[in-house]
Amino acid sequence: MFDFMDLEFEPAAPEFYIPEASECMRCGQCVSGCPTFRLFQIDEETPRRRLRTISKILVENLPVSADELAHLNNCVQCRACEISCPSQMRYGELFDQAQAKLQTPLKPLAKVAFYLIENKKPRAWLMPFVKGYLKSGLQKSLRNSGLLEKLNLANAEKLLNEPTLKPLFEHYPTNGVSRGKVALFTGCIAEHFDRETLEAAIKLLNANGFNVQIPKTQSCCGAIHKHNGQSATKLCENNLIVFNSLDVEAVIHVATGCGAMLSECENENFKRRLFDISDFLLANWSDNLQLLPSNLKIAVHEPCSQRNVLKNQQSTYALLQKIPNLTIETLANNQICCGSGGSYMLTHPENATKLHALKQQIINDANVDLVVSSNFGCVIHLNSDETKVVHPLILLENQLA
Ligand code: SF4
Ligand code: SF4
Repeated sequence: MFDFMDLEFEPAAPEFYIPEASECMRCGQCVSGCPTFRLFQIDEETPRRRLRTISKILVENLPVSADELAHLNNCVQCRACEISCPSQMRYGELFDQAQAKLQTPLKPLAKVAFYLIENKKPRAWLMPFVKGYLKSGLQKSLRNSGLLEKLNLANAEKLLNEPTLKPLFEHYPTNGVSRGKVALFTGCIAEHFDRETLEAAIKLLNANGFNVQIPKTQSCCGAIHKHNGQSATKLCENNLIVFNSLDVEAVIHVATGCGAMLSECENENFKRRLFDISDFLLANWSDNLQLLPSNLKIAVHEPCSQRNVLKNQQSTYALLQKIPNLTIETLANNQICCGSGGSYMLTHPENATKLHALKQQIINDANVDLVVSSNFGCVIHLNSDETKVVHPLILLENQLA
């Protein structure tokens, strides 16, 4: 008798259909979560209309008007539309492809910014001047002169905080029993402007028994390049060479914006060892490590890069629960972007300010002592005289005994 159990089947190849830009059904499921639609309430500022423009660029080779381009470029690139789309349109990837095809030339100031992002040495040389400027009292007179506006530097200047000049060491060994070695991705400007978070990451990894290595030749993740239609391939390739050559158990990022970009570097060996710090600490928290209690009430802001790309926001909450007595709340409307959007706060300051104002209202209503966010860009965008916003690692590190 014929027995089906004797047959051997080849497992089906995991082929998924990837929709083209022209295949958006215009169903509108993505519209209400789009931050620019919230601001302008017109169809031109929706994902479906942007996909129509992208389709013209990528599929139909049709001309697009200046108006269509302006609406396309108003996109914050938060990718909230991806997670609400029943057709699984890969909006982010299609947007990047369209930008790459458009090849919009960079303005001179943007060229300088990209040069500094890509090159560590000139960046380090510049920092003493930034520090000197912030300490000299020049800031007030320069702001009042209007020169910063004329040079299109006013928004970037507002975000400056005092940079740390001292370079990071290459090795940070644990004081306790070693449980392994990990590499830390530090990014480009975070080494100078977000040192507190990086140091908190090192201390928490060390406290959990991990030796930390920081390779000096690592590059920027390339997120700002991609956000602005520039190629990030060289940066990605360099990071693959640097991190894949290390004898470490994990490559750890602390900013979800960088992590989202790194997670899209196509290399299995790299991706297998790549972890967001919340995921890594949660999975490897030492049984012997108890944190001090805190009576603070905090709200968690979930960055778009975490919600829509890494999709690991629950790890932030679970990790913060390591702090006894801490009251943790979810910030309302976390699905709506705060307007930081990589370099969006610099390239589209008016929209970014309006989105910040909406978020500020929500923060005020939450009536908490502190807001935490796992992305450096959101932290600097949301920090204000009214609200203190920090990376959750800083809160955790403060509670180390
Ligand atoms: S949800 Fe998806 S298919 Fe529907 S309009 Fe938005 S992008 Fe198009
Ligand atoms: S990425 Fe964000 S801003 Fe852009 S179309 Fe999608 S939801 Fe709107």
